[in-house]
Amino acid sequence: MIRCENLSAGYGEGAVIHDISWEAAEGRLTAIVGPNGSGKSTLLKSVIGQTSVERGGVYLEGKPLKQWRHKEMAKQIAYLPQSRNDASLSVFRMVLHGRFPYLAFPRRYTQKDEETVIRELKRMGISELREKPVSELSGGEKQRAYLAMALVQGAPVLLLDEPTTYLDLSAQMELMELLRQLVAEGKTVVAVLHDLNHALQYADEMVLLENGGLKQCGTSKEILQSGVLEDVFRVRIHILQDQYGKEYYGFSSEKRMRNETGPAASGHPKRLQIRS
Ligand code: ADP
Ligand code: MG
Repeated sequence: MIRCENLSAGYGEGAVIHDISWEAAEGRLTAIVGPNGSGKSTLLKSVIGQTSVERGGVYLEGKPLKQWRHKEMAKQIAYLPQSRNDASLSVFRMVLHGRFPYLAFPRRYTQKDEETVIRELKRMGISELREKPVSELSGGEKQRAYLAMALVQGAPVLLLDEPTTYLDLSAQMELMELLRQLVAEGKTVVAVLHDLNHALQYADEMVLLENGGLKQCGTSKEILQSGVLEDVFRVRIHILQDQYGKEYYGFSSEKRMRNETGPAASGHPKRLQIRS
């Protein structure tokens, strides 16, 4: 559905991401990971046509992005940016704006639009905030409202740039579970995740960027096993397993890895048993 072909893109003064060829896996949760400034946000922005393309291109349903009309594209892809200016609207009105691709003459939102908003506010657990101005929400509440606005768009593809920002620990996990639920409902979710733990624990697929280039992509398992994450993030990854076989991930600094000797310092994740 979304395909980047030899894509080099940036902001008008040379490319920031270079020669990226990648196709989003349909019906899966893909994590875009990489160090700060590696081009994660730029890749997502390119997929919705918000960067200047220097070479290659982006295709949606096989058709070049440029040939898509804005509203038609919005029915296919909903995008949650990493940051934005707050709207001076109530939560309900702002989320309702997510229905803009369905506005037809006489440009009034319908009962169906309102029902969709009510449903998604409920799903995000913020029904009681519907009349509150967005500018008065806490960081976590705001993030839920923005996510609701993306969901009411009804698009099969969701692009989310660091959706767990501003959320406390339990809310982060709830959000990751919600993304799994959306995938189970058939959505394609591509999320920039700065927390490698979230990516390893929840994502089916990973796209690993380094210095604006695609270092590797594949299933999260493949990427983890290959040791490439340890190289790029300069950490050691420990896989912890409980008595039920569920895996957790721990990280330690690369320095320690250098000081260690023996097979454990091979640069590939080490498996440890959790004793309880
Ligand atoms: P990430 O999301 O991985 O942290 P970004 O895609 O935001 O990285 O940034 C990649 C590079 O592009 C950085 O060097 C950054 O300074 C540059 N960049 C990001 N946004 C802009 C912009 N609006 N104008 C010019 N350069 C930008
Ligand atoms: Mg970013």
